[in-house]
Amino acid sequence: EYKAEIIAVGTELLLGQIANTNAQWLSQKLANQGISVYFHGVVGDNLERVKTAFQLASDRSDLIIVTGGLGPTDDDMTREAFQAITNNHLKEDEQTIDKIRGYFAKTKRKMTPNNRKQALVFENSLVLQNSTGMAPGMIVDFNGKKWVFLPGVPREMKTITTEHVIPYLKRTFLLTSVIESRMLRFIGIGESQLEHELKPLIDVQQNPTIAPLASEGEVAIRLTAKAESKEKANELIDKTELSVLEQVGNYFYGYDSTSIHECVFELLKSKKLTLAAAESLTGGGFSNEIVSLSGVSQVYMGSVVCYSVYSKQHLLGISPELIEVHGTISEQCAEAMAKNVCSKLNSSIGISFTGVAGPDDSEGKSAGTVFISVHGHGHKGEMNTEAFHFQGDRDTIRTRAIKKGFELLYR
Ligand code: ATP
Ligand code: MG
Repeated sequence: EYKAEIIAVGTELLLGQIANTNAQWLSQKLANQGISVYFHGVVGDNLERVKTAFQLASDRSDLIIVTGGLGPTDDDMTREAFQAITNNHLKEDEQTIDKIRGYFAKTKRKMTPNNRKQALVFENSLVLQNSTGMAPGMIVDFNGKKWVFLPGVPREMKTITTEHVIPYLKRTFLLTSVIESRMLRFIGIGESQLEHELKPLIDVQQNPTIAPLASEGEVAIRLTAKAESKEKANELIDKTELSVLEQVGNYFYGYDSTSIHECVFELLKSKKLTLAAAESLTGGGFSNEIVSLSGVSQVYMGSVVCYSVYSKQHLLGISPELIEVHGTISEQCAEAMAKNVCSKLNSSIGISFTGVAGPDDSEGKSAGTVFISVHGHGHKGEMNTEAFHFQGDRDTIRTRAIKKGFELLYR
């Protein structure tokens, strides 16, 4: 298979002053063309190290794309380094010289000798005119490898790639394949269980490939297919998606960038249900998440932040006896909170969160103990309360609890 590599030149990248967005952008473009990128490299503005990076690339890759280091200043090393390893000669590109002259004439400034440097291109290179800046890009053939040189400025790099590089690659390699990918999102199943359920499928699956990904409280799998057209690739993905959902469809909630929040919102809307929350442990965090969706006032009545015993009694009317007997971190208190917030805020569904965020124990319960209760008409059962034990620091425990809350609402 044809291997591509991207090398970004610039000390500011190594210092962490800027992120290597050029490589990210180029990788996406190449992937869209069905070209596999095997390596990303970053090297500082140092002749010896740029030479080393180029030598390594020429040994292992078929297409090498270099961004940066083509400017007028002495620290721009890309030309020198390539010249040193290939003995390729440089010449001035007439069109670029004219352009630089024109620019200096127009701005009534004096052209300095180093400005001519930007017009230097390799003999036998294909010069890629830069419609948004000075230094042109170049494509050079060397020992059967294709080298593409692009300016570091992202806007110039993108324009030259779109206008010249992609059409060139299409012509040269008769690229006929495209890569499509689709993310399937799951909640309520752990990463290891998901992988276990899908292992037989993952093991034999080649196209599309199946890659599990885990993030905060949920898991996803990415299906990536290669085919001669977008339609064909999507057909392959559709087929594999069916097999995946046969195994773990119960936990599936959405595609790509869909969030569980949106799904809960859509579900409530379609069932014409309203929601209110009683938040002790989460202190308004659940509310904060749900109000990030525009239009949610159709279904969301609000939340009562009842962090103290006093607020549980006075805002939600939880009886002192219940707290006396069961404590606030209990199934009974969670149920009363969910039920009472429904009647206080006149919603069809109430959800409540109570627990210990830690790091210390509370009421004899250890950090991470969480009760979440969902109460309401039209929801599965009148009341559903679950006890959890989450691991992590205060933030993690609260985030996990909020995610679980959405999961319980979605089920
Ligand atoms: P110029 O002709 O403008 O000097 P150049 O080809 O010499 O361009 P650099 O000097 O390396 O390129 O970079 C110019 C600017 O482009 C940098 O200051 C930086 O802001 C941005 N840049 C360079 N490389 C990258 C990269 N890999 N990712 C994102 N931005 C970059
Ligand atoms: Mg520069």
